[in-house]
Amino acid sequence: MTLGQEWRLPEGTTLWREGEPGDHVVVLLEGTLEVLREDEDGHIVLIRQLERGAIVGDIATVDRGVRSATVRARTECLIRRIPAKEFLAKLDEEPKLYKQLFWEQIARVRSLTNDMAASQREAITDPLTKLYNIRFFRQRLSLELDRALQTSDPVSVAMFDVDHFKHYNDTNGHQGGDEVLVSIAGTFREAGRRGDIVARYGGEEFIVLLYGATPDEANIYADHVRQLIELTDFPGGRSQPLGSVTVSGGIATFPRDGSDAQTLIGSADRNLYHAKHSGRNRVCGMSPSQKATEE
Ligand code: GH3
Ligand code: MG
Ligand code: MG
Repeated sequence: MTLGQEWRLPEGTTLWREGEPGDHVVVLLEGTLEVLREDEDGHIVLIRQLERGAIVGDIATVDRGVRSATVRARTECLIRRIPAKEFLAKLDEEPKLYKQLFWEQIARVRSLTNDMAASQREAITDPLTKLYNIRFFRQRLSLELDRALQTSDPVSVAMFDVDHFKHYNDTNGHQGGDEVLVSIAGTFREAGRRGDIVARYGGEEFIVLLYGATPDEANIYADHVRQLIELTDFPGGRSQPLGSVTVSGGIATFPRDGSDAQTLIGSADRNLYHAKHSGRNRVCGMSPSQKATEE
């Protein structure tokens, strides 16, 4: 005995909408169905597509809940529509059907988990350099400062800006500039310790969170990266005003130079500005009192 009844659906037919009660299951015999949801702005988002052989609507039908998404025929479809009563009776009769549904749910959960992990990664990643983005950096810095308050560990922030980058773009093209940024990002990633948080701060600016690093340690790290970049033979680098692609850096350390993320970043930025104005291709990490003496 086959269950339910066959129906032919023209393209674009809505089988059900999100929130409606689940009173039947659909087996897709031919064509493609699409599963859709509405996001907060009212845009319709395609969640997944279903092909021949897929069973849809089983969860709301089994748990007597409501549909968690809208289902629509993407192409003309042939379906078998099985009313809840018939479907539940069949499940009781044939326990192996439960097993089949169970495996389908596992596959669905796996795929959703992968999608979620990918979108979480995307939300914290800079698309060009694949470093963390500044939003993530700020959140992480605040968390690490909370931790450091308990442990009295130092926390350093090193900020960098590529020197004369406009000149590099003007001479080698924007695409060439992008390639330099990607390569510099790789240098930052490789030069640090495991666990250092490297982020793209903005256009040609980078920022690194060095948990546990004292001002001296941060200075050694930052100057090491600065040298690595200076020694990299970038295409067209020799026509840069300093004879090579270089970066300037500014350092700040908790608690000496600031007690919250914003103050600390501001302090590193001021030191970076100082490095720029004292000739570029150098790292500056003066404390506020040193700066006061110098001014
Ligand atoms: P300074 O040594 O003072 O930092 O000089 P600069 O030329 O680097 O500074 P400025 O801020 O004047 O210019 C930054 C340049 O960086 C201008 C902008 O076109 C370039 N830039 C910013 N973001 C990107 C990017 O994503 N790709 C490329 N190729 N260039 C970028
Ligand atoms: Mg800049
Ligand atoms: Mg610059």
